[in-house]
Amino acid sequence: MVKDRIFSGMQPSGRFHLGNYMGALENWVKLQHDYECIFSIVDLHSLTSSYDDTSKLQENIQEMALDWLSAGLDPEKNIIFIQSHVKEHAELSLLLGMSTPLSWLERVPTYKDKLQQLGSQGKDINTYGFLGYPVLMAADIMLYKATAVPVGEDQSAHLELTREMVRRFNNLYKTDLFPEPHAVFSKSKVLPGIDGRKMSKSYGNTIPFGAGPKEMQDRINMMITDPKRIKKTDKGNPDVCIVFAFHKAFNESEVANIERLCRAGEIGCVQCKKCLGEKMNSLLADIHTRREDLKNKPGYIKEVLDYGAKRAQAIATANMTEIKKAMNIY
Ligand code: SF4
Repeated sequence: MVKDRIFSGMQPSGRFHLGNYMGALENWVKLQHDYECIFSIVDLHSLTSSYDDTSKLQENIQEMALDWLSAGLDPEKNIIFIQSHVKEHAELSLLLGMSTPLSWLERVPTYKDKLQQLGSQGKDINTYGFLGYPVLMAADIMLYKATAVPVGEDQSAHLELTREMVRRFNNLYKTDLFPEPHAVFSKSKVLPGIDGRKMSKSYGNTIPFGAGPKEMQDRINMMITDPKRIKKTDKGNPDVCIVFAFHKAFNESEVANIERLCRAGEIGCVQCKKCLGEKMNSLLADIHTRREDLKNKPGYIKEVLDYGAKRAQAIATANMTEIKKAMNIY
């Protein structure tokens, strides 16, 4: 049976955190066994909102590749590469942009939200590039004739737009070149930040993905617990406690017991945090060890990304020839 081909990307916009891991990467590691996967570090996308400061871009790309490989993405099984290293992404984006109605882009729900959110942080993203973000995203997927795209629930509008663009292209140029990609929904766990808000770099409330045992425990120790608990024997309410939310995500076998002990006032928060730290460190130990090993192999990351770009390029070149032919561009 022919496997579905998946394309997915992540922006290299800073140190990867556990929320990113649980939200997408953990799922990718599973998907690689059942799909033909193309995973891209989408540096061009990061320019749509961070065009004004690219000083950390290369460092972020390296860190992201390190995170992906240490999480268990296999560079032989998957194509792993940097988006800008395959120039056809930009070329196809430009071609698709010619026929994409402006109204389609303006109605993407995240467009106005993000414009407002980043605008309130003093960022000017009233740009052509930012509005065209979904066109570049569609180009990423269509360039490889991907048949499936992993999506979180809030991203399904983007995929719908890609599907519309596929239909429009196929209709306009009387072709069946592009398949309509379908969604692969993931049951990703949403982790709160250590202060209870959404985990986000801009709030400074993250747990870095590559955190070693000490950094992990230090971050856990800073988590907000039930504020009404003063003494160890006070009966607690785990539903309002961030530590408990993490137990639910990482320590499933112990959740019921911790809930009982907390409600009965039979476990202190210090002990509860220590227990979470030990559990998380043991679960993430392999990843952490792999990350440290990879850091000591200079040149390896570049090798992996160059190899991935070569493989991506071969597909992109062949498909781009067909696409241009369909458009009568020689
Ligand atoms: S005992 Fe654990 S679950 Fe209960 S409030 Fe303290 S840290 Fe949270």
